[in-house]
Amino acid sequence: MFSTEFLDLPPLAGAHGTVALPGSKSISNRVLLLSALSQGATTVHDLLDSDDTRVMLAALRQLGCGVQQEGSTVVIDGLGDRPPTAAAVKLFMGNAGTAMRPLTAALAVLGGNYELSGVPRMHERPIGDLVDALRQLGCHIDYLGQDGYPPLHIGQPILRLDQPIPVRGDVSSQFLTALLMALPLVATRDIVIDVVGELISKPYIEITLNLLARFGIAVQREGWARFTIPKGSRYQSPGSIHVEADASSASYFIALGAIATGASEKNSIKVMGVGADSIQGDIRFVEAARQMGAQVTSGPNWLEISRGSWPLKAIDLDCNHIPDAAMTLAVMALYADATTTLRNIASWRVKETDRIAAMACELRKLGATVEEGADFIRVTPPATNADWRPASIHTYDDHRVAMCFSLAAFNPASQPVRILDPKCVAKTFPDYFEALFSVTQAVSDAIPVICIDGPTASGKGTLAAQIAQALGYHLLDSGALYRVTALAALRAGLALEAPCEPAIAELARQLPVRFVGDQILLGGEDVSHAIRSEEGGMNASKVSALPAVRTALVALQHSFCQLPGLVADGRDMGTVIFPVAPLKVFLTASAQHRAERRHKQLISKGISTTIDILRADLEARDARDSSRVVAPLKPAQDALLLDNSDLSIEKSVDMVLNWWQDKQPFKHA
Ligand code: C5P
Repeated sequence: MFSTEFLDLPPLAGAHGTVALPGSKSISNRVLLLSALSQGATTVHDLLDSDDTRVMLAALRQLGCGVQQEGSTVVIDGLGDRPPTAAAVKLFMGNAGTAMRPLTAALAVLGGNYELSGVPRMHERPIGDLVDALRQLGCHIDYLGQDGYPPLHIGQPILRLDQPIPVRGDVSSQFLTALLMALPLVATRDIVIDVVGELISKPYIEITLNLLARFGIAVQREGWARFTIPKGSRYQSPGSIHVEADASSASYFIALGAIATGASEKNSIKVMGVGADSIQGDIRFVEAARQMGAQVTSGPNWLEISRGSWPLKAIDLDCNHIPDAAMTLAVMALYADATTTLRNIASWRVKETDRIAAMACELRKLGATVEEGADFIRVTPPATNADWRPASIHTYDDHRVAMCFSLAAFNPASQPVRILDPKCVAKTFPDYFEALFSVTQAVSDAIPVICIDGPTASGKGTLAAQIAQALGYHLLDSGALYRVTALAALRAGLALEAPCEPAIAELARQLPVRFVGDQILLGGEDVSHAIRSEEGGMNASKVSALPAVRTALVALQHSFCQLPGLVADGRDMGTVIFPVAPLKVFLTASAQHRAERRHKQLISKGISTTIDILRADLEARDARDSSRVVAPLKPAQDALLLDNSDLSIEKSVDMVLNWWQDKQPFKHA
């Protein structure tokens, strides 16, 4: 996940590959509860790992269900006819509405001694309509705080199931879902639920009905006003069940396929985890994307998308049935041949943010002409390439704004796009940007590289790591590659000198090195400590003076240049390896300062030495690095010099980040 302040997307040009989407939140928690209420074990595959599902799993464990989890697969040993544990149980629901509501209903009809609470925000989220419905059928529920809100106490019910149970449908469809999932537990007779008011979010009720059917409950319904749970209904485990991927999340990749797979027939985006037969309402986004020109094929659990019409075709569409995914259409509209109108989207105004206002504002920043009304948005793409502008996209703590605007990075003007607060995608898709980068290519040479070169112990490593972290970029510690090469050569019995140059170069070319977090692995062995010694540095300096070794390591170093960007530290990053990098910093400090810093470092590791010895060593290494024939240590012509002798690391980081910002087209972060 990118937890940086902003994420800069360089101009992107192409897309191809396969992405696996995270499971749907609504389906995950329903499936967990239904499995828990069934007889026997249910293996749940592809469960979403999120706050809400963790809350549900913890509650089920407390209630006495068997829960065995391995990665995204969970085996739930259901309660069946066993009553949940008899002792008083306090369940903490966090802020998980998808756990709170259905558990309240299920426990209330089963009866027991339960207390359900959550975080303060949960205690502000209404539950009165559900409690009213449950009380009418004889459940015993008390409010422990404010009437109408959690926390709640649940006791033993005296059930009366002969009358239709009224439940409001116009506040939250979760109340009806909760009743539909609870009542099969007590279906000693036909149980009728009457919806009062116009039912909202019908697609979510469809998901509930679909899943109930998978667990053996065939609910009968009359329109959307009356639902009957037949006498004798009983939960049966389907044995194993797959959680579908989130269909709204699929919309970004469907759009990606339509926009970015280009003219090549071989290119496509394959989305795993959800197919056109999905039970989620937002899957109908596929129809809208097709209307705009996407070519979509599908099978059980997958979709494959490629570009059809190009430019995309403008549409005029009622989007009431796909409110969330329709935001993606608004961004696709940037690539259309005329003006696109999305209608009947008044609900956008009351979501995570006022989405109509947010989309209009951000689309305008990119150069589109946008008209908005109470319940519609009308988007006209920038008229020419010159009308596209590099934009810093505000995301309003709304995961969907962040995700859909990433698609603007394919603009024909090759302008970068800045996404502010990218971590807001965590709500439904923590690794969204990683997934995007895994199937997209940048415009050639557009992946930004920041080079930080300088002599030994100048603080490059620390500076580079912090810059990379602040920008969410990859990090190349090129010195480590020379250190690892030297280690591998010594282990192979080679002397670090000219006669062995071809053999060491051969080793370097095939160096089985991997960087995993802070670890550096050589053929699977963690050599991070082994290469960090002073001796390791000296040895690196020796192999690095061999021209064939340097050449052998070029391709490996280039391979680090990946989306969204790279910070590379070394001696010749700016001069040889990434000569067109937009920012090159040459970091220096006086030999005395560097020796003192290194001394402090070594002392803290319990290694005793003197500043004078270290200084002599550093100077010897500097001399060799600067006098070698190939890639001698020297600043690139266009490098900015930074002498950090008297600067704190924070100050140096700030300076480099400011230099970087000055090179960006975005005016404000
Ligand atoms: O940066 P570090 O101290 O890990 O580098 C170890 C040695 O590797 C340096 O002293 C230098 O001789 C060599 N090196 C190089 N070119 C690089 C990085 C490191 O020659 N790009």
